[in-house]
Amino acid sequence: MADTVRNNMVVTRKPHTCWGCLGVFPAGSSLMACTAADGGRIATTYWCAVCDEIWQEDQNGPDDGVMEGEIKNRDEKHWQEVSKNISERACHGKESATPD
Ligand SMILES: [Zn+2]
Repeated sequence: MADTVRNNMVVTRKPHTCWGCLGVFPAGSSLMACTAADGGRIATTYWCAVCDEIWQEDQNGPDDGVMEGEIKNRDEKHWQEVSKNISERACHGKESATPD
């Protein structure tokens, strides 16, 4: 099992593929960068907001790592729901920031 050494939100400078859903996000996207040390190797994976949220929910489940694309493949309906919730939250945030 890989040890996570660093988890931080970044604005990407080049396109990246989300590990959880295999979605491609262009440069300038906000993604969670997860840097992990695994058997002496350092690897960074990128996670979109949806996959990051589902992954956090799963923290009480069996911890055997996540295969590439698994977050969305495992339960695409749930993935779409979380995606919708996140975009609704983003809209509400915008509304409260600019009251009329
Ligand atoms: Zn994703």
